[in-house]
Amino acid sequence: MTDSEYIPFNVPCFAGNELDYIKKAIEGKKISGNGNYTKACHVFFQKRYGFGKCLMTSSCTDALEMSAILADINPGDEVIMPSYTFVSTANAFVLRGATIRFIDSRVDHPGMDEALIAEQINARTKAIVAVHYAGVACDMDKINRIAKDQNLLVIEDAAQAIDAYYNGKALGGIGDLAAFSFHETKNIISGEGGLLTINKPRFESRSEIIWEKGTNRAAFWRGEVDKYGWVDMGSSFLPSDITAAFLLAQLESIDAIQSRRLSIWNQYNQAFADLRKQGIVGLPVIPEYATNNAHMYYLVCRDLEERSALIGHLNKNKINAVFHYQSLHESQYYKPKHDGRDLPNSDRYTNCLLRLPLHLNLTDDQVSFISDKVIEFYKQGSA
Ligand SMILES: *Cc1c(COP(=O)(O)O)cnc(C)c1O
Repeated sequence: MTDSEYIPFNVPCFAGNELDYIKKAIEGKKISGNGNYTKACHVFFQKRYGFGKCLMTSSCTDALEMSAILADINPGDEVIMPSYTFVSTANAFVLRGATIRFIDSRVDHPGMDEALIAEQINARTKAIVAVHYAGVACDMDKINRIAKDQNLLVIEDAAQAIDAYYNGKALGGIGDLAAFSFHETKNIISGEGGLLTINKPRFESRSEIIWEKGTNRAAFWRGEVDKYGWVDMGSSFLPSDITAAFLLAQLESIDAIQSRRLSIWNQYNQAFADLRKQGIVGLPVIPEYATNNAHMYYLVCRDLEERSALIGHLNKNKINAVFHYQSLHESQYYKPKHDGRDLPNSDRYTNCLLRLPLHLNLTDDQVSFISDKVIEFYKQGSA
């Protein structure tokens, strides 16, 4: 085999107009934050998904950090979230002094088991972070009901959840606040990039101030104040308008991107239907209330050894398949601070979940090739 036949796990997708829009941003001589392209992205999100206020950020990590400031998280406060998630979900709140109560994954899905949330709530609890793993919605009615009863904020980590819905409502528009990622491994990309949506009006004015380094500069530009100054804590969370120009080109092609991703996802899912029927692998589950945004295709192996062998088999065939998160409650940093509860499903996904390549550079033939190699691995094993 030649090097050109190597199948990478991810290849960033280019929609076509990125360079043109970047050129226009440069010609417009305004490339700092909150320029015309940033505003055009905000309008796109509000129109297509009905989000409240939108603020582009330099990453989802930044959007999560903004939400922790907006949620007024202080040392000693507690925040509830899944253990099986990216470090940024937790870091944003740990940076403000919070203690994290990690929740186990569902048996059937790597997402947080909603049934285990209520028992972790106490007088210090401030917020629940709902991570829509693989772009598959958490059961938001359940989470919102708990939050309402206990007077907690709901923050969606919608990093993987662009263009995905819960009972007809766009993810990212359901919680009080939500954070998206446009990192190059996500469906819609700008290299690095993110978005904070503010769905409760009471957070709107403060969100803009935190975004602009703790100043009321945004109000100044609108002519609402005659000078701007330091009015609150904040940081530099705005992306360059060059980043927004890139992103807008992607957003304008979102339907084509999503439809191709979904077709690859379905091709995998059909190929592995028999393996699942025989109880050999677990496959993604899309609950009735959720849509599939084809962010990720994964298999759940029976144990760590089998997963390592399958990764090895695919690598031998020049296919780069990868595992995903390591449970945060078991991490070097947080384990000593964790309350000691076992989270067996989170550990199982840590050891057994395997992600297959899913990007727009893949041909149908390559998807068949990858699927065949997975099936071949299991045939060899049972022979
Ligand atoms: C990708 C991701 C993030 C981080 O996004 P960045 O834009 O890289 O900061 C956070 N949470 C989840 C669940 C993610 O998948």
